[in-house]
Amino acid sequence: MPRILILGGTGEARVLAAAVSEDPHTDAVSSLAGRTRDPRVPVGDVRIGGFGGAGGLADWLRTNPVDAIVDATHPFAARITANVVEAASRCNIPLLLLRRPEWVRRTGDDWREVADLADAAQLLPDVGSRVFLTIGRQGVDSFAALGALWFLVRAIDPPDADMPPQSRLLLARGPFTSAAERELMQEHRINVLVTKNSGGDQTYGKVAAARAMGIPVLMIRRPPLPPGVDVVHDVAGVMAWLGSHTHEAEDSSAPGRSAARRTGDSRR
Ligand code: NAP
Repeated sequence: MPRILILGGTGEARVLAAAVSEDPHTDAVSSLAGRTRDPRVPVGDVRIGGFGGAGGLADWLRTNPVDAIVDATHPFAARITANVVEAASRCNIPLLLLRRPEWVRRTGDDWREVADLADAAQLLPDVGSRVFLTIGRQGVDSFAALGALWFLVRAIDPPDADMPPQSRLLLARGPFTSAAERELMQEHRINVLVTKNSGGDQTYGKVAAARAMGIPVLMIRRPPLPPGVDVVHDVAGVMAWLGSHTHEAEDSSAPGRSAARRTGDSRR
């Protein structure tokens, strides 16, 4: 039976693992980075922890053969994506990226798009003084020097690094409704929102709330996708791709897991 590696850490990776578990023709192992203390664990086989860079991942793939890889990591998890592109290429394994669509600006949105956290921190004092910082645990220290601003920092787990001196930490995990986000932003007299363009429904409520309240948003653009790799935007797209990239493996009785790998029928 074809075996798939799912690089996870997202809701859609869990949905994908559940979909594959219901498919009698495919088997999957999900991989989590191990960053979240109490992760939502996908159904099926799961491994947890880094691989040790692209080389470590390639070694892992040699000892744990799979017929295809789906990178369903967060759109901002650029290092693991770069690593899997390299490792999949080295091991000649078909690779697909699952990336939920970006949020797009709607009428009434007041977005200032920035390239990264450093740009957001630089622009922030010109835009607002009471900040709702929703970038997750990592990178909060990019804002630590902004002593004149007040921050409501929301993350699932506490940041390891420095927080801004005037800040309150709110530990919470989505989904968040737009009504609840609006109430939270009103309660803390927020006048600017900082967010990554993560996409998806689970955390869109803050963007809708900011629009309704006329609050500007520093929207951090996604890192670029690696060139030349197949990308789909939903789990249905993954299942269709898996169907076309794993059926040869299912039929194959030769040593090695996959006809697709042997013939190099792979990544585009
Ligand atoms: P990253 O910067 O791209 O990756 C850093 C390192 O973490 C990688 O080099 C790899 O270590 C390890 N890693 C990441 N994802 C992994 C996975 N699924 N399985 C095994 N190892 C993994 O990633 P990140 O931004 O720290 O995010 C870590 C995880 O949290 C990701 O899986 C992502 O889906 C999830 N997440 C991230 C964000 C975000 O905003 N960045 C938001 C929500 C969820 P080695 O080099 O040792 O293999």
